[in-house]
Amino acid sequence: MLEALILDVDGTLAETEEVHRAAFNDVFREMGLDWEWDQSLYGRLLDVTGGKERIAHYIATASPAMVPKASAGGEMADAIAAMHRRKTDIYNQMVASGGLELRPGVEAVIRAARGAGVRLAIATTTSLPNVESLLRATLGPEGLDLFEVIAAGDMVRKKKPAPDVFLLALERLGLPAERCLALEDSINGLQSARGAGLATVVTKSAYTAHQRFESALSVTGTLAELGEDGAAIIAALSRLHATAPVG
Ligand SMILES: [Mg+2]
Repeated sequence: MLEALILDVDGTLAETEEVHRAAFNDVFREMGLDWEWDQSLYGRLLDVTGGKERIAHYIATASPAMVPKASAGGEMADAIAAMHRRKTDIYNQMVASGGLELRPGVEAVIRAARGAGVRLAIATTTSLPNVESLLRATLGPEGLDLFEVIAAGDMVRKKKPAPDVFLLALERLGLPAERCLALEDSINGLQSARGAGLATVVTKSAYTAHQRFESALSVTGTLAELGEDGAAIIAALSRLHATAPVG
């Protein structure tokens, strides 16, 4: 019996990655760095989850000639954290200005869930303000209230592909994994959800369409492909969930 859906955010709710990429590049310019993350580089950097972790990985592996100045006596980690805070602000302004849409079928599922007796949770590595601005911009002021649980960003120590953020969502829902279904778009997310014992439906996104999702319960393009309205999509997800092997 399907009791809750646990949704990833970036790539699953909306194709946010190009907005994240633009926000990163804006910060680099603001800070006088000559870095430019193009789509192909960003596609590779997405293997590293978490914005701060992604910047640190870029510095460590691409060895750019220019690096952010650590403040006097400060650590590079502090400089990266400051850079990431600014990036989050820019991203949220971009999202609030209405540049993003939810992917096909997503809003229908979110709005039909309560009526179908299915609870909603979020499990994401993106930071909480990013989740809030996306839900507000796409679902209106009540968007946040449609989710019972939001597990995000730095609430756990280990980001995806570690299972921690899905385990936190399960704990806050008070449900065992077998009564829930995860929705993801990436291999890192799939591994994280599977590590938490969750059957997972993958909706492939722009940056992940080439990935292989062998441990997924089902792989599709968009949720809208599963049914003609929210209730039908949830019924289809429920039927898929019933076929999942236990554990
Ligand atoms: Mg994702």
